[in-house]
Amino acid sequence: MAGTVIIFDFDKTIIDCDSDNWVIDELGATQLFEALLPSMPWNSLMDRMMMELHAQGKTIDDIAEVLKRAPLDRHVASAIKYAYALGCDLRIVSDANFFFIETILKHHGLIGCFTEINTNPSYIDDKGRLRIVPYHDFTKSSHGCPLCPPNMCKSKIVERIRAGEKKRVIYLGDGKGDYCPSLRLGEGDFVMPRKNYPLWDLIQNNPGLLKAEVHEWSNGEEQEKVLLHLISLSEFVVSNGAVATPQLLSVDCKMNSMPAKPHEPLPKILPVPM
Ligand SMILES: [Mg+2]
Ligand SMILES: [Zn+2]
Repeated sequence: MAGTVIIFDFDKTIIDCDSDNWVIDELGATQLFEALLPSMPWNSLMDRMMMELHAQGKTIDDIAEVLKRAPLDRHVASAIKYAYALGCDLRIVSDANFFFIETILKHHGLIGCFTEINTNPSYIDDKGRLRIVPYHDFTKSSHGCPLCPPNMCKSKIVERIRAGEKKRVIYLGDGKGDYCPSLRLGEGDFVMPRKNYPLWDLIQNNPGLLKAEVHEWSNGEEQEKVLLHLISLSEFVVSNGAVATPQLLSVDCKMNSMPAKPHEPLPKILPVPM
């Protein structure tokens, strides 16, 4: 399982909403957000909105409380814990920001399952305002990818993760920004697009452009089923071409953090004849 890297988008993939919109809407700043959106990049606007909210008397704690209420499907939480317990390497690549993601993952007891969180950095300034900084500083240079927003090309991050040892990647996402990294994955990798969301639409428009195998999902329950299925599949083929047995599932793992019994049985997987 150590040979499997699972890369998660965050908004509408791990949580069932967009964390930026969630905070703006819950704190009553939707009108201002929509008025400013045509004039600035999304990421810069979020930084601006955090300052506006602070000026209106909203504190970091107010923002954190709202984030803790963001919907996160229990099946998604259980899939993450299970994949981690099996020894998979879980990572986040997200265009949200570190404070939002960290607050939500800590609240749900999931933060320890992830090796790294790649997202727009955030910090609290001396006035107590949450500041959000672009992951890629586009004022200095462009990342050069025409598909992606100026502050982040997820492909650059995914390529760094894949550099070095050959690992099988399972990539989960929903948005336009997840298309670029999906195009870069190779044979033996998997993409899990959320059905009827922009990533899925883009893939449907020209399925031949992807080398990775595509497995769609619609909700948390399906995401869990499909992900656990793909994890067990990847156990059958080891890098040297030998066929592993399902018993490996219970060997190499950090079983102490694994639930005694998943709330649903793992899908039965039959080895594919080679
Ligand atoms: Mg997303
Ligand atoms: Zn890109």
